[in-house]
Amino acid sequence: MKVAFLTKARPETLDRIPADLPHVVVHAGPDGTYGPEALAAVADVDALMVSAEPVGEQLLAACPRVKIVQRMGVGYNTLELEAIARRDTYLGAMLAANDSFLRRWPARVDRPLRVYLPESDVPGYTVEMGQAARNAFARWERVGGIPVSFEVVDDSAGSDVQVRWIEHFSFERAGQADIVWDRRGWIVEGTLTLATHTFTGDLLGPDAVYTVALHEIGHLLGLGHSDDPRDVMYPSTEVHDLTLRDRQTAQLLYGLPPGSLKLP
Ligand SMILES: [Zn+2]
Repeated sequence: MKVAFLTKARPETLDRIPADLPHVVVHAGPDGTYGPEALAAVADVDALMVSAEPVGEQLLAACPRVKIVQRMGVGYNTLELEAIARRDTYLGAMLAANDSFLRRWPARVDRPLRVYLPESDVPGYTVEMGQAARNAFARWERVGGIPVSFEVVDDSAGSDVQVRWIEHFSFERAGQADIVWDRRGWIVEGTLTLATHTFTGDLLGPDAVYTVALHEIGHLLGLGHSDDPRDVMYPSTEVHDLTLRDRQTAQLLYGLPPGSLKLP
């Protein structure tokens, strides 16, 4: 792991770089672009640690291996939208569908989101369905680059996410996620409603519950719909695992500040 520090604006951070960490230090010029020496120096880095320097297409093209862009002192990763738009994600479809307003949780790694996921006495409910829902949370947790983890709790008091089971919806749907966000777009709480039957009354198996939960937890994390039927986040998904686009879109969402993000 090699790190590039872009620290012109906060040179004092250089004192804190561990001595044994392979790293380079580069700066943008006064016009915000990087010179050939800086671009050559980042060719093999895996991560960029940034204070206020620009991270645009020029820099990203020069470091093809980079997986992490951490903006110090701000608390989230930031990539330029232009660079994001070139990656294979459905962020563009999401932005078009919701007036360019992004919602996401603040970083919750040290303090996992508390998920109240009780067993249920709703007709058709089985412990395997509850396990399928747990597995879906765990699947999202394994996606790198999303600073959110989950902890299943036995008490609804103080929980961040409540899972409730119903027998069926009254229209064609098997799950629903409802989120509450603040003015700035930070999600503050969520409810996940999962049905044990289709709306026509057919019992859903644990595999179907898993697929539905995977999709709805995507919404719970702030994702919108994909425009590609091969993705879990496509509206009528039957996909059984997160695709690269699902994961990259979530990673990009969590690399951006929430709120209004009008494309130029
Ligand atoms: Zn949906």
